[in-house]
Amino acid sequence: MADPRGFLKVRQRETQPRRPVPVRIMDWKEVYEAQEKGVLKSQAGRCMDCGVPFCHQGCPLGNLIPEWNDLTWRDKGEEAIERLHATNNFPEWTGRLCPAPCEASCVLGINQPAVTIKQVEVSIIDEAFDNGWVNPLPPHRLTGKTVAVVGSGPAGLAAAQQLTRVGHTVAVYERDDKIGGLLRYGIPDFKMEKEQVDRRLEQMKAEGTRFRTGVAVGTDVTWEQLRRRYDAVVIATGATVPRDLPIPGRDLDGVHFAMDYLVPSNRVVAGESPENHIDARGKHVVILGGGDTGADCIGTAHRHQAASVTTLAIGKQPPLERAGHQPWPTFPTLFEVASAHEEGGERTYLASTVEFVGEDGKLTGVKVAETEFVDGKRLPKAGTERIIPADLVFLSLGFTGPEPAGITEQVNAEFDGRGNVARDGYYMTNTEGVFVAGDAGRGQSLIVWAIAEGRAAAAAVDKFLMGSTILPAPVAPTDRAIAVL
Ligand SMILES: Cc1cc2nc3c(=O)[nH]c(=O)nc-3n(C[C@H](O)[C@H](O)[C@H](O)COP(=O)(O)OP(=O)(O)OC[C@H]3O[C@@H](n4cnc5c(N)ncnc54)[C@H](O)[C@@H]3O)c2cc1C
Ligand code: SF4
Repeated sequence: MADPRGFLKVRQRETQPRRPVPVRIMDWKEVYEAQEKGVLKSQAGRCMDCGVPFCHQGCPLGNLIPEWNDLTWRDKGEEAIERLHATNNFPEWTGRLCPAPCEASCVLGINQPAVTIKQVEVSIIDEAFDNGWVNPLPPHRLTGKTVAVVGSGPAGLAAAQQLTRVGHTVAVYERDDKIGGLLRYGIPDFKMEKEQVDRRLEQMKAEGTRFRTGVAVGTDVTWEQLRRRYDAVVIATGATVPRDLPIPGRDLDGVHFAMDYLVPSNRVVAGESPENHIDARGKHVVILGGGDTGADCIGTAHRHQAASVTTLAIGKQPPLERAGHQPWPTFPTLFEVASAHEEGGERTYLASTVEFVGEDGKLTGVKVAETEFVDGKRLPKAGTERIIPADLVFLSLGFTGPEPAGITEQVNAEFDGRGNVARDGYYMTNTEGVFVAGDAGRGQSLIVWAIAEGRAAAAAVDKFLMGSTILPAPVAPTDRAIAVL
């Protein structure tokens, strides 16, 4: 156990330092800085090593949190990263980007601020990279089996790394020019710099995973061809179809999906010159919808030096404290203050957008009304309309599911009622040998879930190919236990 009296001595939660707002919005570098070692140790020392660690349950990966809190407190970084890697292939991604459901279920959180688990996680992996403790783990022997993983986001990469390490020959197909999925061109550098993706790719290449970029499966090569060429196929294509808002004025120049703003902006930061880049400098920006995507648009617009940034949300402002119907240890919906929110802008709740207004085909404003709840429906209240000036609107209303991309026609994998690729309790679609993991199967979610599903799907694929598996399977996609693998 970490310090037996740690939680009594250190009652305050001290999170990672952030660069000052006026400085950080002048560049695209990460907002967070490394924590000072002494503070980190005292924070890790607050962990009580509970008999029943609810944080294990809160983390979709089942990360062994009390073990590495203890090792961090004891200054045993090399052992800590070994325990962290036992359940998480990419802690440098979750340590930076995860909303940390583990902390919501930390037992200390019942009557004190929760342990800063995510901060300890990122510090362990950063120290490990700095000290050369992250090395390739190539397989001892090859099985002769081949697997195609389609999509190179966290789900595809986790599945590929697990399958490569047990000896299968794995090729990752990606339609973009670079590997990484949403981590590459979706999530801005101020949340995670791309070096964090690149150095993992180096490790994966050294382990033997092969990468094929610029190949759109379904058009450049068919799913059926892949299925014939490989012993198993994993669909990890994400949930990339954006939810639209088909109201009057939708076709005005200046109304865009959030990803049409974020992706080219990320490419510019990477040194490219995309033709479709949208520069928000000096513009009035309105973002419809909250969530991670909306927050990323806020941070990007501030770095573009927009004249104003307003976020409109149709629902009520979430509470600052747990609501009664979301008791500990559930993950509550709370009013979130992400780093991008600290940087400025306005957030308006109960705002129903009724029309985009413009002149000569160009957007000039957004007509909004107060939201009222009628028979459980959210409707604009008559007589409360007003116009908010806007040069740019970014629709950040979530994603409806994966792109069909010929999946059903070419390989006969069906979609479920929610628009995701359907699978059984072992991640297999209704076509034998074709599996699905990550957002493509569960809908737009979180990186930690994508990695957890990639690991579990890898275990299912290994069992399918070899008859048994030693790979761990952290989560089942349905309530049918996958532990029997
Ligand atoms: C803007 C934004 C910000 C986010 N921020 C966070 C955050 O801070 N924290 C968090 O936990 N989650 C965040 N998320 C959610 C998170 O990024 C996703 O849940 C996660 O990336 C899903 O991983 P995945 O591997 O399933 O799919 P993706 O990361 O979407 O990767 C899918 C890949 O498949 C490729 N592909 C698709 N179709 C084909 C095809 N036919 N052939 C070849 N390749 C194909 C795509 O190009 C893509 O590279 C965010 C999402 C968005 C959109
Ligand atoms: S991956 Fe997320 S939920 Fe799991 S320990 Fe890390 S921060 Fe917590």
